[in-house]
Amino acid sequence: MALAGVLYFWVVMQNLSTKTFKNEFVDAFPGDLTGDRKPRQTPGVLYSKALPTPVAKPALLAWSYELANELGIQDPNEQDVEVLGGNLVTPSMQPYAACYAGHQFGNWAGQLGDGRAITLAEWETPEGKSWELQLKGPGPTAYSRRADGRAVLRSSVREYLMSEAMYYLGVPTTRALALVTTGDKVVRDMFYDGRPAYEPGAIVMRVAPSFLRFGSFEMLAARNEKENLQNLINWTIDKHYPHLTGEDRVLNWFSEVVERTATMVVEWLRVGFVHGVMNTDNMSVLGLTIDYGPYSFLDNYDPDFTPNTTDLPGKRYAFGRQASIAYWNLSCLANAIAPVIPEVPKLEERLQFFEDTYWAKFYEMMGNKLGLDQVREADVALVAEFEKALTSIQPDMTIFYQLLIELPLDMEGEADVEKHFQDSFYDELQPADRTGLYKLIQQYQARLKTNTCTREESVAKMRKSNPRFILRNYLLHLAIQELEKGENTLFLKLQQAMKDPYSKRFDEFFEIRPGWATQQAGCSMLSCSS
Ligand code: AMP
Ligand code: MG
Repeated sequence: MALAGVLYFWVVMQNLSTKTFKNEFVDAFPGDLTGDRKPRQTPGVLYSKALPTPVAKPALLAWSYELANELGIQDPNEQDVEVLGGNLVTPSMQPYAACYAGHQFGNWAGQLGDGRAITLAEWETPEGKSWELQLKGPGPTAYSRRADGRAVLRSSVREYLMSEAMYYLGVPTTRALALVTTGDKVVRDMFYDGRPAYEPGAIVMRVAPSFLRFGSFEMLAARNEKENLQNLINWTIDKHYPHLTGEDRVLNWFSEVVERTATMVVEWLRVGFVHGVMNTDNMSVLGLTIDYGPYSFLDNYDPDFTPNTTDLPGKRYAFGRQASIAYWNLSCLANAIAPVIPEVPKLEERLQFFEDTYWAKFYEMMGNKLGLDQVREADVALVAEFEKALTSIQPDMTIFYQLLIELPLDMEGEADVEKHFQDSFYDELQPADRTGLYKLIQQYQARLKTNTCTREESVAKMRKSNPRFILRNYLLHLAIQELEKGENTLFLKLQQAMKDPYSKRFDEFFEIRPGWATQQAGCSMLSCSS
């Protein structure tokens, strides 16, 4: 490293345990400062002071070097690991659990709050950006209700890896800086069948400019705390949407939340991500993917798939419903902020922009996935044909699109087309599907020939839009099983692969979900119990 580089690192890189932190959220709003962890309603405040409960023996399992570098955070020493485990709170930290509410599975759930998350403080980067540092699983808070405020290794590994994987896929998301095991055991009834068992405990340190949710605003509206609501909206705009100024800025802010949320969902659809718990308390007001629980990537293309066992039988949060649920959730946010908007019909208008915004982004994304130079009117029908064929055949989504990139433009005959896509099929094709796929591919090839860009440009677009490596649930399941036995080979491999999801470097994982994983708990569907 050149001398200037060494000096830069020396001057600006700082340790978690010695940094002087900011606490702007705490400073700006009323909070319950008693530190009392008895579960309770906390009217009038936006947070409750909460200290992490110390753990037996924090040990670092993973650290996001690139993210740490970006934020100016020095590799963790022993004291830093104590911070990550919740055993050390430094003098400039003012840890708190945020108070928020939410609609869960379509029903108003009232106050929820950070039951197993504590924000330690805000880290300011050398460039002056600030990031909330939050521990997930640090013990009880005023919002833990009857639960323990802890997280198990299995769910922590899933949150850590997946939030980072989404970042490298280019999907807006919260990030994960570190993962520690706690040395403590946590009891979980993983299958909700009355057979609780001990599992290793863990804590993720996750980071985001803010973890404010739609539910943060819903809480204040439900309690009729108009001044707090107005202040929270102003603060959110000032701090996180500073480019919005002028008379209509609250309306413009809402429009931008609508737009960011539409972008986020379109990005989920691009990579085949199903969130699984799109409750309004799990919707970031910054348009970030947040709260990784029983999520999944699609293996076989089934728009009706929900990975969350709690979401059965209604499948409210199935892959193909995510856009309409996002709209529903945005309408909850609109209702929450309506009390401070002088002209509510204008807010309603901004909400209705969701549909056009979403479809415009959706077709642009599909055009890129399919390698089209631009999306023309007639392409809408082509996209619909793809949707129909994929839903019927249910090939592996990721592998199908990879094979589509490599499709020869002059491929003829049903048998050849079937053979080309063979590696993406979970089942043998029905005769009608075989013909349907053939016709679709003919139509697609004809369309590609009308592209005004070169084949190379079209392929480059496809390579950028279609991931080749995805963190499939069964891979995570295998990595977690290994980790529970003290072995980290697969975990480390996945950690590398997720950083390079569009390349062929990790083609050892380029295959459809194996048969054994179809019915195995944790490999396809998951419970919320974590
Ligand atoms: P989630 O579905 O994970 O977003 O959680 C919904 C609500 O339940 C949030 O208020 C969480 O803080 C709370 N919660 C979930 N698990 C726990 C736990 N183990 N201890 C305390 N609160 C929890
Ligand atoms: Mg949540």
